[in-house]
Amino acid sequence: GVKPLVAGNWKMNGTGAALGEVRAIVEGLSASGSAVADAMLCVPATLIGRAADAAGGAVLEIGGQDCHAKESGAHTGDVSAEMLRDAGASAVIVGHSERRTDHGETDATVRDKAAAAWRAGVTAIICVGETREQRENGEAERVTSAQLDGSIPDDMTAGNTVIAYEPVWAIGTGLVPSNDDIAAIHALIRDRMEARFGGEGRKVRILYGGSVKSGNAAEIFAIDNVDGGLIGGASLKAADFLAICDAV
Ligand code: 13P
Repeated sequence: GVKPLVAGNWKMNGTGAALGEVRAIVEGLSASGSAVADAMLCVPATLIGRAADAAGGAVLEIGGQDCHAKESGAHTGDVSAEMLRDAGASAVIVGHSERRTDHGETDATVRDKAAAAWRAGVTAIICVGETREQRENGEAERVTSAQLDGSIPDDMTAGNTVIAYEPVWAIGTGLVPSNDDIAAIHALIRDRMEARFGGEGRKVRILYGGSVKSGNAAEIFAIDNVDGGLIGGASLKAADFLAICDAV
């Protein structure tokens, strides 16, 4: 099987004072010896350089949380994938539901950002997932499939991409879909990825995200086609994040 990935998403949290958590995570991962999973922290752009220095390129990868589709130019306040890589990021989240909501990002926007990540040589962590209303209307499958189809460029490989299924209603709420519901959506994503990308779709990692904690991580990671997690709140403290890494 594929090597799982546990990725933290710090969202808009963390200043230099939080670098102690990065160092504690590196120490914890180093002490636990042969890693059965890859570990990554996607930190605010302002912290990427310092977090990458603290991580030292060994047991913990550092990622960004968004990038502009272009390499450079007149886009005040934006950060390109090339800049993230230059700062020390090896991956970038694109299409997180908070970006889709706060910044009106469409599938086409997300697809262009994923292509930008690949152009810069960083892995694109492409997020999809339905809202609560869509789930209640029985549209979870349709919405997730449509986002998947529209948000991934044609050149996807298992090396340049990670898919994250994050039901919007499970993010930061303490609510988690049933194991059967997670299994159903992850199987659907796997089928669609295989149908479109063949062997690369079979190997690409599909993470679950939304209220993953140390207490539910092992159960969620054991579900078929769940190749790790994208962790929000529980990635901010080293002890919580390390416990989740241990649950793989
Ligand atoms: P929580 O783990 O805080 O629910 O956030 C999930 C998420 O949005 C990760 O990208």
